[in-house]
Formats: sequence, C-alpha cells, structure tokens
Amino acid sequence: MPRPPSDSTGREGVTSSTRVHVVGAGPVGLLLAALLQSIEGLSVRLYEKRHEYTRTRMVQLAPYLVADSVESYRADSIDGDSVEAIFDPRELDQGLAFRQSIPSDLSALLKNWALGFCPLNSIERSISDLIDTRGLNGVERTAAVVTAEDAMAMLEPGDVLIDSTGSRSLLRDHLVPGSGEVDEGANTLKIRLEYALVITFLYGQRYDCNEYCKYHKNIENAHYKFIPMVHRTHYDGSVSHVTGIVNISAEEYEAMPSRFDGEWLRSNFPGVAQSMDRFIDKIKQETNGELLGDLEIVRIPLDLYRARNATSRQVLRAGPSDHPFASSTVFLAGDSAIGSPYFQSISLGFECAMFLAGLIAQRELPLGDVLDRYELYIYKQWLRVYMRSKMIKHNKDLFESLDDPLALLENLHIY
Ligand SMILES: Cc1cc2nc3c(=O)[nH]c(=O)nc-3n(C[C@H](O)[C@H](O)[C@H](O)COP(=O)(O)OP(=O)(O)OC[C@H]3O[C@@H](n4cnc5c(N)ncnc54)[C@H](O)[C@@H]3O)c2cc1C
Repeated sequence: MPRPPSDSTGREGVTSSTRVHVVGAGPVGLLLAALLQSIEGLSVRLYEKRHEYTRTRMVQLAPYLVADSVESYRADSIDGDSVEAIFDPRELDQGLAFRQSIPSDLSALLKNWALGFCPLNSIERSISDLIDTRGLNGVERTAAVVTAEDAMAMLEPGDVLIDSTGSRSLLRDHLVPGSGEVDEGANTLKIRLEYALVITFLYGQRYDCNEYCKYHKNIENAHYKFIPMVHRTHYDGSVSHVTGIVNISAEEYEAMPSRFDGEWLRSNFPGVAQSMDRFIDKIKQETNGELLGDLEIVRIPLDLYRARNATSRQVLRAGPSDHPFASSTVFLAGDSAIGSPYFQSISLGFECAMFLAGLIAQRELPLGDVLDRYELYIYKQWLRVYMRSKMIKHNKDLFESLDDPLALLENLHIY
C-alpha cells in the first residue's frame, strides 16, 4: 500500500497501518467496525461497555439506505425533494457507488432490515456476530467503560478515534479548543421540539394505519391524540406491532418515571389512558382482534441536536500542541454527531457511517480533506434531518388541531 501524500497541514492521510478505535458498539459503531474490517490493512479496535444486547424495541430502517439509484434514493415522500436541493449529483453518485461496494454479507443484512421492522438488539447481535465470524482482519474487542481520559490516553500519533457512544457522546464537547475545561454543551446545538410518550403495543390481528385512520380513531380525543408514526405498524404474520407518540407537557413529563406500563398510566394519567383505550377500542371494532399484553411506555424529550464540530478539525487548526487530538483524528458518528426524533436516527447514523468508512478507505486523501468532507457531509445531513423533522412536527401540529379551525389557521403560517 503506497504511503499517502502529506496534506497542507503537513499530516498524512489514513495510512495502511492506521489504528482505528471505535468507541461504542451500538448499531452505528458496529456497522462502522464491520465496514472498516473489510478495508485492507486497518487495525480496528471496538470498545463497548454493555455485556449484552437487550434493547428489544422494534425499529425500522429507511429504504433509501439500500437504494441503488438516485431515483430510489429520493423516493421518500417527506424529503425526497430536499435531497436534490442539498446534495450535489456527484455526492449522490459517490454514496450510491459506496453502497454497491459493501461486502455481500453485510449488504444482505441491510436489505433485509429495510424491508420492515426489526428488534434493535437483533440488528446489534447480527452485526456483532458477523464481525466475529468473518475471521479475516479480526476486530479487537474490549469490554469496558471508556472515559474521555481513557480515550485520550490510548491515542498514539496517527490514530483515528470514532466516537459512536450515542446521544450522551463521550467526546462531543471535547472537540472545541479551550482552556482545558470542558463545558457541557460547548459543541452541541439542541432544539427541543416537544415532550412525548412513545407507546408500543402488540395486537393479535393485522392492523395498518394511514392518515385517515389516525384521524378517525382519534376523533373523540380532543387532547392526547395517539399518533402512530409514518409506517409505524408492522404485521409479522400473527401479531401487529404498533408504535406511536402522544404529545405531553413539560410538567407531565417531569411527573412521570422514564418507563412504565398501561396500569401505571391508568392510575396516574387517566386522561391519556382514556385516549389510548378509545383508539384501541376502535381498532378492535374494525378488526375483531385483541390487545396482547399491556402497553409499553417510555417518556422522552423529542430533541433535534447536532455537534457543531463533528471532527477534531478545530483542535488541529488551533496549531501544534500536546493535546492528543492534535496528533490524531476524532470523528463523531451516529447519535454522537446528530440526533433526531421521529424514528429516523439509525438510518441517518448508518448513512453517515457508510460515508465515513468510504472516506477512510480513500487512502490518497490528505487528512485536511477527509476532515473537511466529513464536516460538510454531516452538515448537509443535519440540514436534511432538520427540515424533515420540522416538517413532521408541523404536520403533527396541524393534525392535532384539525377539529379546531382557529387553532388550525394559527398553525398554518401560510406566508
Ligand atoms: C423508543 C425509541 C424508539 C426508536 N425507534 C427508532 C426507529 O424506529 N428507527 C430509528 O432509526 N431510530 C429509532 N430510535 C433511535 C435509535 O435507537 C438511535 O438513534 C440509535 O440507537 C443510535 O445508535 P448509535 O449507535 O449512534 O447509539 P446507541 O444506540 O446509543 O449506542 C451507543 C453505544 O455506545 C455504548 N457506550 C456509550 N458510552 C460508552 C462508554 N463510555 N464506553 C463504552 N461504551 C459506551 C453504549 O453502551 C451503546 O452500546 C428510537 C429511539 C427510541 C428511544
């Protein structure tokens, strides 16, 4: 493997002997490790604090992740048009070309997940097993809680570190040069859209929900409308998995535990429980099925956020220093870099992981270009998901005021 040329900062790009540390083996860290594992000559180390993959929530991957043409890539009804407005044709072509180059064992998994719903831990286990069974280019795995200090201490000059530790990113706020003190939020832009209950239930019949159904089944719910998200029902042959959200106030959010069931809801928030009962009764009337088990409920703030810097570029630009990031490179990936509500983050994280792996594979690229390209790409993905999330929120607000023309007009803001 030829040595890459030096870039304008006098640094080399990613070399054939580069050590890549991936901290956090959730879906995005695992995908990155599996993609990098296939690149000859890199030595990949994967760190994870959990001993088991236990998150059973059903998640869905966007079909655009496995698109094989620009047309199918922008088929999404919510933001298909934004794609062409934000990305250059060349960028789209390069992204599609990288997808075609993904090893067949991994691309078969992605294609399968994009067909429907899948438990999150099944995605995690499948990629984890694939990494372990491939044999070639073994990924070195470490079970440990990595602290920011550990992360800095393990870096040797020329190393790459990818922080995929999720929304409470290990290193996000360390990526701005400063006095040494780290301010929480120093590198984070956060927009709170609303507070919500994410409510999931199983139903013993096929049940699909379109916009008419969402309206009709909520018609007597003046407040607390249960809104299954776009394509958020899934029939696995005997059971429908239904997930949706109910908007709640900040005070209600504070008064709830982070996770609870229908019984707790009935005793403590009967108004929300009645809305759910009315919704589910209407499904039963239509399809003669039964609820299987109880409701599973989590309360979450629906935040849109991004790292203002998704790499250690600012530390490099600040000039030579003895800071570990001045001689190595840090990238944020997945929820570490960008977070978005409304069930779209894994796809976004996977897409950024593919781009990053594609960049790292281009050994001839000077480091400065690698950093600039990743920053630009993350910014464009942020624009896309920001517009998309605001659109979904706006549509939700309109939906919730459909029976109140004055409130509806208030929400329209035509121009
Ligand atoms: C109720 C709910 C439903 C959702 N449904 C969907 C959906 O349908 N579709 C979708 O796309 N998204 C969905 N999401 C969002 C999705 O789960 C996240 O976007 C996704 O898990 C992010 O992946 P990640 O790998 O970036 O981070 P995470 O999944 O958070 O993984 C981070 C990993 O890093 C590890 N880690 C963290 N800190 C350290 C440390 N210091 N040392 C070592 N290891 C560490 C963690 O243990 C974890 O394994 C949902 C989220 C919620 C809450």
